[in-house]
Amino acid sequence: MTGAGSFSFRCNACGRCCNSPPAMTVEELFRHEQRFIGCLAVSVVHPLAGGGPVHGETVTAAEAAQWRQAVEALSFPLDGRPGAPRLRLGTQAHDYPSLGACPARRPDGRCEIHADGQPAACAAVPLDAALPDGLQRVVLHQRLAEAAWMGADCIVAGRREGYAPLVEGERVADDGYRRDLHARRAALQAQAPAWGARVAGLLGSELRAGGAALRAGPQDYLTLPLVPVLAVLSESSDDARERTRRYARAQVALIERKVAAALQRKDRADRAMTQELRRFRGHYERFASA
Ligand code: SF4
Ligand code: SF4
Repeated sequence: MTGAGSFSFRCNACGRCCNSPPAMTVEELFRHEQRFIGCLAVSVVHPLAGGGPVHGETVTAAEAAQWRQAVEALSFPLDGRPGAPRLRLGTQAHDYPSLGACPARRPDGRCEIHADGQPAACAAVPLDAALPDGLQRVVLHQRLAEAAWMGADCIVAGRREGYAPLVEGERVADDGYRRDLHARRAALQAQAPAWGARVAGLLGSELRAGGAALRAGPQDYLTLPLVPVLAVLSESSDDARERTRRYARAQVALIERKVAAALQRKDRADRAMTQELRRFRGHYERFASA
């Protein structure tokens, strides 16, 4: 199939899409605790009501239902009404936006941790594990414009010489990318029983108030320190308690280094992030000493 909904891909490792810190699981954040500041990202998601055109692709009613199921598996109800917005909790790396780069991106654009624990979300790029395989064509249709805008030209519609077929209609055509996509999706789905449901409950009304503010404001997600996730994970064993506290101490040291570097840069654009990171540091210090 080479018609509508088919996309080919060729990555030349230019690093243009590595312009911000990536989504990472808790395990990945622990592994790279000296490099990435971890955070809990909270966003409001609106389940798709029905089929129709989405980012230039026609989505059937059955596909919209699959999309809703995928959203519901990774999110928590904001209130009890059917069809109400839901809160998605995700863990990711966090850094100064003014740097415009992931902390693992080398000056030549390559990934410093490519062969040493590259996050699964990065391995699946340009696909998005939050959506079912059958809807990856919607993701690529949207990213086609972004890749062209970045000058990367790594995604093309249909076939082109030198590019490998990535998505053909409802199928992820490349075996390696399909494997990476499924690995990332499995990791995302494992978060809800491991800590997601508990953290949503722990944050309770505070989280719901945040969701309400998100709906009203221009920003589409909140960033919080990872502490509620650490608190839940630490309950499982003495080892987990020690590991989560060690992580918190490592984060305090990393934040201090990042803030010191920002103060050296003297960029006014960094002020808000410096304040946020100082709040993070306080939370991690209290957790580590509790
Ligand atoms: S922008 Fe495209 S070509 Fe460049 S690293 Fe990202 S996926 Fe690869
Ligand atoms: S971890 Fe590597 S691949 Fe992922 S965003 Fe950073 S530099 Fe890019």
